[in-house]
Amino acid sequence: MTDHGAADTSAAPFYLPSGNEVAVFEQCHAHKLAVMLKGPTGCGKTRFVEYMAWRLKRPLITISCHDDLSASDLVGRFLIRHDGTAWQDGPLTRAVREGAICYLDEVVEARQDTVVVLHPLTDYRRILPVDKTGETLEAAPGFQLVVSYNPGYQRMLKDLKPSTRQRFVALDFNFPPLATEVAIVEREGSADYATAHALVTLGQRLRGLQDRGLAEVPSTRLLIAAACLIASGIPVRDACYAAIVSPLSDEATLVGAMHDLVDATFV
Ligand code: ADP
Repeated sequence: MTDHGAADTSAAPFYLPSGNEVAVFEQCHAHKLAVMLKGPTGCGKTRFVEYMAWRLKRPLITISCHDDLSASDLVGRFLIRHDGTAWQDGPLTRAVREGAICYLDEVVEARQDTVVVLHPLTDYRRILPVDKTGETLEAAPGFQLVVSYNPGYQRMLKDLKPSTRQRFVALDFNFPPLATEVAIVEREGSADYATAHALVTLGQRLRGLQDRGLAEVPSTRLLIAAACLIASGIPVRDACYAAIVSPLSDEATLVGAMHDLVDATFV
């Protein structure tokens, strides 16, 4: 869990929009609507929510979901201490009390009995029943629930129940348009324009391999990693192999096809 504590007064996180996602999110916040950020891994969902928390001047509490995450991990638990027991709020409860933006990353990883804890916070009630203490907390002004969701998980037969999905306004994320992604790789990967452009072109070509069995396509994050290696003096082909090709597949045919595309891009 990451807790950015009090509302961030530092410089804006670097975020380049691809459409009207900033305006839509702002309206969701104003209308107390929970938001689902849909898109493949590494396409900017986390950066977007960091940027929006900064813009809306709200603290941000991030929870990475996994299949062991329990309702108590979210809501809180009694801790046994030498002088008795003490209640400790979980991150969701803290977000509800503080009026924070609570970001549940990869919510589909959480078990259904954990996800239902979110339900009363996503409708007009905006409440969090804390069964163990008998409290019912009303979400403080500014509280907002945001989840990320990777539709690619459906291939692994993981999905959210339709009754859960309907509780969110969904914002579709995908890889940014070419010029935007080049600007991101330039800035985040300390790359010159020509290198950033070539890496994004390579990324777009590799994304075309999804039809040929590539389970996960290269994200902006991988292109940035390759740019960082190149900027620090690693030869281009080695950097592309280590940061892009190798993480994506072990399958010889696909690896070979990716190598060919690297060679074709960096002639
Ligand atoms: P996700 O949460 O979708 O897995 P991230 O937000 O962690 O992806 O994005 C991965 C990295 O890509 C970020 O750390 C950032 O460097 C970069 N990035 C992606 N999209 C953008 C964007 N629109 N503006 C700025 N940086 C971006």
